[in-house]
Amino acid sequence: MEEIKELPLLDITAESLMISSEKVAHVQMNNPLEHALLILIKSGYSAVPVLDTSYKFKGIIGKNSILNEILGIERIEIERLNQIRVDDVVNQSIPCLNKSDSFLTCLKSVIDYPFVCVVDKDDFFDGIVTRRAVLKQLTKYIHVNKSLFNEIIDDK
Ligand code: AMP
Repeated sequence: MEEIKELPLLDITAESLMISSEKVAHVQMNNPLEHALLILIKSGYSAVPVLDTSYKFKGIIGKNSILNEILGIERIEIERLNQIRVDDVVNQSIPCLNKSDSFLTCLKSVIDYPFVCVVDKDDFFDGIVTRRAVLKQLTKYIHVNKSLFNEIIDDK
C-alpha cells in the first residue's frame, strides 16, 4: 500500500493558518462594554480578542458574557453598558497558540473553540487560528489522499 502523503499538513504551523493581527477585530481592556458590543454586532462575530494598550493579549469577550453582565432581575439594564469596562468581563482562562505550533496542536485547540489566539513569548498578539481554517486544510488533505483512505477502509 502506498504511504499516506505527508503532504504539507504536517508542515503546516499556526503561523500559516493564522489570520494576522491587522485583520482581526479586537477590543481593549479599558473600553466600555457598549463599545465591545458595537464591535461584536457590527462585525457579526460572537467573540473577539481583548488586548491591552500595548497590544498584549488579555483574553476574549463575547456577546453572551456582555448580555449576562447587564441582565437584571426583571429587565436588561442597558444603562450599565457604559458603566462596566471590558476588563470586568474578559474571559482570561482560554488556551493560546504560538506561531510555531503544529497542525495537530491547532486541530486539538479548536475542538472546543471556534477560534484560538496566537501570541508570542511575551504575550503580544499575533493573530487568530479559526476552526474554519483548520478544517479547510484537513478536508484538503483527506481529499488529496482519498484513494488511500478508501484503500484502508476496503482493507478492513
Ligand atoms: P469563522 O471561522 O470565520 O466563522 O470565525 C470563527 C470565529 O472566529 C468568529 O465567530 C469570530 O469570533 C472569530 N473571528 C474570525 N475572523 C475574525 C476577525 N477577522 N476578527 C475578529 N474575530 C474573528
